[in-house]
Amino acid sequence: MTMTTVREIMTAPVVVVQADDGVARIAATLDEHRISAVLVVDGDGGVVGLVSEYDLLVTPAGPTAREVMTTAVVSVTADTDVEDVRHLLVDRRIHRVPVVSGGTLVGIVSRADIVALLITEWVCPVCGESARGEQPPASCPKCHSTGAFAMQEQPPGP
Ligand SMILES: [Zn+2]
Repeated sequence: MTMTTVREIMTAPVVVVQADDGVARIAATLDEHRISAVLVVDGDGGVVGLVSEYDLLVTPAGPTAREVMTTAVVSVTADTDVEDVRHLLVDRRIHRVPVVSGGTLVGIVSRADIVALLITEWVCPVCGESARGEQPPASCPKCHSTGAFAMQEQPPGP
């Protein structure tokens, strides 16, 4: 079975805030992007913390990200096996983990990104286009072939 790495499923670029950003700005960022937490980075793009909706509920009067953020943030690299990330999210009961390279934030992986891997992937017999879903598409979105899509047994390798 081919190993799927974080690089293949991570979301990038990542929505971030700075440690000096005020709570109101953080709340607006969460609302605008419809996310439940945001990473806090320093001037060099290094991850220094994470502020979740929960943190804002607990400490709504905190003036800036620095005062309300969680600083014990576990990170992974783009080459980390997705299976390891799955264990990390379960064991630590966290919802997302930042992806760093050389100390700089390059992406983020959430529970939803990993759950999406469980959706069956289908491959067009004509052009090789792939699509995810419970059922194969009626026709290929790329070459419009109506040939039967075949179930992809393994995630595509790098
Ligand atoms: Zn096709």
